[in-house]
Amino acid sequence: MGNFWHPFSDMASVEANGEFVISHGEGVHVWDADGNKYLDATAGLWFTNVGHGRVELAEAAAKQMKRLGHYSTFGDYVPDVTLELADRLAGIAPVPGSKIFFTSGGSDSVETAAKLARRYWVEMGQPDRRYIVGRTKAYHGMHYAGTSLAGIPGNIEGYGTLVADQAHVVWDDPQDLRATIEQLGEENVAAFFCEPVIGAGGVYPPPADYLTEVRKICTEYDVLFIADEVVTGFGRIGGSWFASGRFGLEPDMITTAKGLTSGYLPMGAVFVSPKVADLFFEPGAGRWFRHGYTYSGHAVASAVALANLDIIESEGLLEESARLEQTLHTAFAALASHPDVVEIRSGTGAVAAVQLADAPTAMAFATKLRRFGVATRAAGAGAIQISPSFTMTDAQVGELVAAIGAALEADQ
Ligand code: PLP
Repeated sequence: MGNFWHPFSDMASVEANGEFVISHGEGVHVWDADGNKYLDATAGLWFTNVGHGRVELAEAAAKQMKRLGHYSTFGDYVPDVTLELADRLAGIAPVPGSKIFFTSGGSDSVETAAKLARRYWVEMGQPDRRYIVGRTKAYHGMHYAGTSLAGIPGNIEGYGTLVADQAHVVWDDPQDLRATIEQLGEENVAAFFCEPVIGAGGVYPPPADYLTEVRKICTEYDVLFIADEVVTGFGRIGGSWFASGRFGLEPDMITTAKGLTSGYLPMGAVFVSPKVADLFFEPGAGRWFRHGYTYSGHAVASAVALANLDIIESEGLLEESARLEQTLHTAFAALASHPDVVEIRSGTGAVAAVQLADAPTAMAFATKLRRFGVATRAAGAGAIQISPSFTMTDAQVGELVAAIGAALEADQ
């Protein structure tokens, strides 16, 4: 029996069938412990946006670690490199004048934004605005608020009552948001959480006009609009740093992680618009957000994030992501007519999904795909996740589609 308890796993089955041990990565490939090479179709868990094996990131980490591993960011302390990163992020924020609240990852970012939304309304003299609304199919990390907001049934069930005052709306119907706010009473609703492209729930691009509609509804009822860009941020939705920028959403808060460091170190950030942040920066008001993490703004993670942003800029990876959006859309269309494929979802960002019959089928197919040289995973209710590094070439996308096509044709 091994000692590692895998997240999100049937451990009895892992024990019975063995672990898939990854030893190293380079570019868009990873190798297992036996030396077999795989195309990494998912960029790890949607994060290795700049590809594996980036020496620049290793060097940035080593340089910072020799200078200062981390200190504290509570009170008035802060490592210099953290300030540099906050300024850099504020410079690319879709909402000008945003403040940056650092966290240790995506779940922390969601928890931070959920708590800050409630604190905002308390400070605004509307403490009854406590409801936080999420969507079906949603994934917002696995802390309490995020689990409560989850729209994937298996992720929310089995814990009893989680965070009170949460509601769910149908993922693709803006009018359900309107109806829910009206039913709860707008005076009771704090915020709406929205993944611009649903990720872990199965890669669902938003229907046309959905995002602008829900943004408008939030403005109309003065409900805070929180874009969860843990997956979509830092270029995943091609051509733009954030999906919020591409769709002109101007969120009140944006939750991020993953692509901030391309996953080389754990780090998250909440972008807080002036509408929310200014209240807590107001001279003499004495309001503070009593919230934070030991590793908020971690110095080495900050140095790696800066180097990661440098790579994205210097190699034009936002444009490469836009190229991949097109290539994936065109190349994966070839699989749509296969009898085992229910649907292909693509065309918004460097993501795609191959929808199979159900979750067990997709999990078995993801395992089978390794024999065809592809590492991927099942997401949502039976989809194969495609979310490569932005450095994946068009030819490599061709290899990926060919391998999936061959696996679909193979009997076992
Ligand atoms: N929000 C979204 C949209 C995510 O996809 C994820 C993780 O996949 C999270 C939050 C949670 O991030 P983490 O796993 O870093 O806590």
